[in-house]
Amino acid sequence: MALKCGEVNLRAMELLDTANTGTYGDPEPTNVSLGAKKGKAILVSGHDLKDLAEILKQTEGKGINVYTHGEMLPCHGYPGLKKYPHLAGHYGTAWQNQHKEFAAFPGAILMTTNCLQKPLDTYKDNIFTSGPVQFPGVTHIEGYDFTPVVERALELQGFEADVPGKTVMTGFARNAVLGVAGTIVEAVKNKDIRHFFLVAGCDGAKPGRNYYTEFVEKVPSDCVVLTLACGKFRFFDKDLGNIGGIPRLLDVGQCNDAYSAIKIAVALSEAFGVGVNDLPLSMVLSWYEQKAVAILLTLLHLGIQDIRLGPTLPAFITPNVLKVLVDNQYAGGGSEGDTLW
Ligand code: SF4
Repeated sequence: MALKCGEVNLRAMELLDTANTGTYGDPEPTNVSLGAKKGKAILVSGHDLKDLAEILKQTEGKGINVYTHGEMLPCHGYPGLKKYPHLAGHYGTAWQNQHKEFAAFPGAILMTTNCLQKPLDTYKDNIFTSGPVQFPGVTHIEGYDFTPVVERALELQGFEADVPGKTVMTGFARNAVLGVAGTIVEAVKNKDIRHFFLVAGCDGAKPGRNYYTEFVEKVPSDCVVLTLACGKFRFFDKDLGNIGGIPRLLDVGQCNDAYSAIKIAVALSEAFGVGVNDLPLSMVLSWYEQKAVAILLTLLHLGIQDIRLGPTLPAFITPNVLKVLVDNQYAGGGSEGDTLW
């Protein structure tokens, strides 16, 4: 039943990918500002591209800048969204930093999915929900009418001055990566690229958790890091340089864009004439949110083996479940005291 669930989720991700790329175009590699512009502001967090598109339409000409938060970062790569000049940049990092980041944001905030943390009283009046997420005492938007969000943004002070910031790149979804598949295959054959690491997942909130940061820092310079989902915020602003004609750090997208990563892996395995499990690719994952756990089940359904889960096991991986995964070579086996399984 778990594997069947993974199969159904693959179809769900495929439909979502078709809807997103069909409506807003295929993501393109895009530089995104981590700074802010002086003026009124709205922050959109979660996953929903249509909500962001509607916010952008409904704020046109109103002097409000729109920023993405968390998993909305990859939205900057979609032609149908990046065309709006007031999509000003990306603010903040992952779900576990909402309390600090939302409290400091000087505008209205829209949360479009269930990775919402309990809102603090300091910003409860500034935050709104849409789609499947709601919270007691927080205004919920129905029918894509974001007037209350726009009105709240106009009441709040916004950014009083420009805030300088670095830029990061996003938009390396399947079309962008497979567009340079020939370059990648050549680079692997020439031994310019030795290995790929997919570092992905929701990540955890334990203080001092820096496994992903350290991992990416320690990846040898002839290896590429593919990333998606919230875990990327442990290293997304690092400049890892280029390798074999492509950047060493490729942001594939949101957690549900695991579909795109699967497509990339399958296409590369065809180009190399080997199975996906024989590619020079390791998966280092940390799913724990319900929707994201379904992505892990999809990988298991596809027969992907030797997945590394960690640095701590999610609660649903009981000792018995772990034994089944390790015995069937889905997960690399750790021993007691190991931090990575
Ligand atoms: S990666 Fe996980 S925690 Fe992050 S937004 Fe997606 S489901 Fe939520």
